[in-house]
Amino acid sequence: MSPAQALAAAENPRDGGLAVLRERGQREVFCGLTGIVWLHRKMQDAFFLVVGSRTCAHLLQSAAGVMIFAEPRFATAIIEERDLAGLADCHAELDRVVDRLLARRPEIRTLFLVGSCPSEVIKLDLGNAAQRLGAKHLRSETSQGVRILAYSGSGIETTFTEGEDACLTTLVPEMPAEAPGAAPSLVMVGALPDIVEDQFLRLFAELGITHVGVLPSRRAGALPAVGPNTRYLLAQPFLGETARALEDRGAVRIDAPFPFGAEGTAAWLSAAAAAFGIDEMHVNRVIAPGRERAKRALERYRPVLEGKRITFLPDSQLEIPLARFLATELGMIPVEVGTPYLHRAHLAADLARLPAETRISEGQDVERQLDRVRTDRPDLTVCGLGLANPLEAEGLATKWSIELVFSPVHGFDQAGDLAELFARPLRRRDVLRI
Ligand code: SF4
Repeated sequence: MSPAQALAAAENPRDGGLAVLRERGQREVFCGLTGIVWLHRKMQDAFFLVVGSRTCAHLLQSAAGVMIFAEPRFATAIIEERDLAGLADCHAELDRVVDRLLARRPEIRTLFLVGSCPSEVIKLDLGNAAQRLGAKHLRSETSQGVRILAYSGSGIETTFTEGEDACLTTLVPEMPAEAPGAAPSLVMVGALPDIVEDQFLRLFAELGITHVGVLPSRRAGALPAVGPNTRYLLAQPFLGETARALEDRGAVRIDAPFPFGAEGTAAWLSAAAAAFGIDEMHVNRVIAPGRERAKRALERYRPVLEGKRITFLPDSQLEIPLARFLATELGMIPVEVGTPYLHRAHLAADLARLPAETRISEGQDVERQLDRVRTDRPDLTVCGLGLANPLEAEGLATKWSIELVFSPVHGFDQAGDLAELFARPLRRRDVLRI
């Protein structure tokens, strides 16, 4: 650690006595447009119109693939190079694209205009465009009831999971207000694969939490109500702005570790149950079968993972809860856990469970970080796609962090699959060595 880094670390003592190394240098991450890949699958009557360049179109097309059996629910309106005088044309063109789209696809209920980073797009005020188009299409007969919202997925201001945070933040003002004197309700926040969402909804029902909503909802009309009687539970650790917007509307966050593995999921469900005053004995009875299933699934992976050293480079913002899961439930040793942003309050429960000697870093200075990886030589490095091949070439086993976002990994029944994602590259490395 350089003197400057040591000073930065000393200035930022982490809860529990550990230091946080803050870095502000070159970053290697995907942009926020990537979130469209999972968000368009989740919100089944939404459409994502990226206002961007050919690069944005290529990114989306290669990450989300081509939809062969259904019409796609995302597209890119390509804005070519123009000077400021051409901006009026840009607005007119955007209006024409939106008109055509909504006339052709009357099933669309939410249209997201997604900003990107080419300078021509930055000059466009997409928030205003969304308001103008929203007012127009609310009156139109062909697209009744469509809500038009705007957010930025630009690579200049985001890391890739922030795209979901920005998208959900725009939905919060659209949530209906809780009725006066409404019974306490729970909102689970964060896009999860339907199968995982359904598992959690069943568990909440068995626990006895009756009024449960989900953000984002699968259909625009199912947005849950929000107000002072709403308790919200984050399912993803990268939703800082969404959380702030919910709190502005009176909702209160339930503090919990994130639902990864047997213990993380048990603690997450227990925290929700405690917020609703549910008897602890009942909670233990409801969660015991899932917890046992998850523990048994994890035991299979312990021989491969226990004692192995792991480094996370900052990418998905899932790093801290995943390191907690691997350390406390599988005996792995986190060497460095890097995260693009460290939300101390949201991550407090996971941070407190990390081994005391774990090096936590926030932000990135990619060259310095790679130097630390080379010095540490962990058994496994979790990183973005762009860094994986060079590290593999240096003999280091890697795992693409984006796979952790695209795969169902939350909850009891996915605990084994989550462990498998970390075990596979280690087994592969062992096979290659033989
Ligand atoms: S938003 Fe920016 S970083 Fe993302 S694909 Fe478009 S040009 Fe590239």
